[in-house]
Amino acid sequence: MADHGIGTRCVQAGYTPGNGEPRQIPIVQSTTFKYASGEAMGRLFDLEESGYFYTRLQNPTNDAVAAKIAAMEGGSAAMLTSSGQAASFYSVFNIASCGDHVVSSSSIYGGTYNLFSVTMKRMGIDFTFVSPDCTDAELEAAFRPNTRAVFGETIANPALTVLDIERFARAAHAHGVPLIVDNTFATPINCQPIAWGADIVTHSTTKYMDGHGAAVGGAIVDSGKFDWCAHADKFPGLCTPDESYHGVTYTQRFGLEGAYITKATAQLMRDFGSIQSPQNAFLLNLGLESLHVRMPRHCANGQAVAEFLQAHPRVSWVQYPGLPGDRYYALAQKYLPNGSCGVVSFGVQGGREAAQRFMGRLRLAAIETHVADARTCCLHPASTTHRQMRDDELRAAGVAPDLVRFSCGLEDTADLLEDIAQALEG
Ligand SMILES: *Cc1c(COP(=O)(O)O)cnc(C)c1O
Repeated sequence: MADHGIGTRCVQAGYTPGNGEPRQIPIVQSTTFKYASGEAMGRLFDLEESGYFYTRLQNPTNDAVAAKIAAMEGGSAAMLTSSGQAASFYSVFNIASCGDHVVSSSSIYGGTYNLFSVTMKRMGIDFTFVSPDCTDAELEAAFRPNTRAVFGETIANPALTVLDIERFARAAHAHGVPLIVDNTFATPINCQPIAWGADIVTHSTTKYMDGHGAAVGGAIVDSGKFDWCAHADKFPGLCTPDESYHGVTYTQRFGLEGAYITKATAQLMRDFGSIQSPQNAFLLNLGLESLHVRMPRHCANGQAVAEFLQAHPRVSWVQYPGLPGDRYYALAQKYLPNGSCGVVSFGVQGGREAAQRFMGRLRLAAIETHVADARTCCLHPASTTHRQMRDDELRAAGVAPDLVRFSCGLEDTADLLEDIAQALEG
């Protein structure tokens, strides 16, 4: 499948039925699997043979969908998780533990920022946050001898900054650590971070991949290219025997292509158990089958809405990486030449109250704590997710009081523009 186009991979990768088998990926709705002998099952537990024994570790439906996502991102292996949050956590915790340090872009999803700066900090992992626009010297200064990874988002939710993936990958590799990129907003249709030097890619599949607001989920993809053994002192979990798993050394047994995901499955999924249900994996796959058809429409609507807003007298500012003149336009042209995403941020003249009045008048766009699905939705962070903050605190957090996050769905462009126009003019 790797030599096929991205659209063909969206539709067909990960599952090839044999004679007389179901054309659609079967939902293997079973917690467990039957074996003829205890010895046969023992070989699975020792990771000497591959096979299924308990769905918390592996399930055929999930594996097929994970294999599709790996093919879409150009990676060597992938796993599904119960949510994007679980994917972000596992992606870092798989290679960093108490006493270690991670460099992260400060422009990341709020939930990820909290996970890193509060919860993982309580686990003894330190994070240094750098602006995605920092100078090379500032980026360099963020590294420490105990740094184990660099983290960023291709297009940040909701800041809509674009990460210079090559620059961050170069810095990470110069320090012998991998670059992890959350590719949720771009999706592999618009950007494949591995092709630009990223080593690990994560997703909240809840967003465009599922695309219908039907199932919360996450995924982690390994490029299979990062040489853990060349920096074995930094990654003992991958390069020395795992006593909690029968003394297996993941890099030796599974090679660079399989070590990272096998460890995350055998160790983290075993102990934390954030599996995706096979039913949700099936729903996710339905979304993946049309991702390459849907993304261009989301982007076309995003571009049209951004251009319309920019020209409107009642709009004070617009941020969208596809707008010429946007701070991230040049990076978007490089990394996202076919379009960025369907999410547009903008401010309404009149501040907080005007933004709320505008949203209340929208007819097609619903007010939701969600982005990136088929139905257009919007959110006013200052009166919802960030409601406890004063205007000066909001500005410090990078959220303007009048910021409206507008997620363009798949409706007709003309209808969306008409809805926005009547709400602005009302
Ligand atoms: C939503 C989101 C997450 C968290 O994903 P959940 O599926 O909600 O847990 C992580 N990263 C980005 C960029 C997101 O938009």
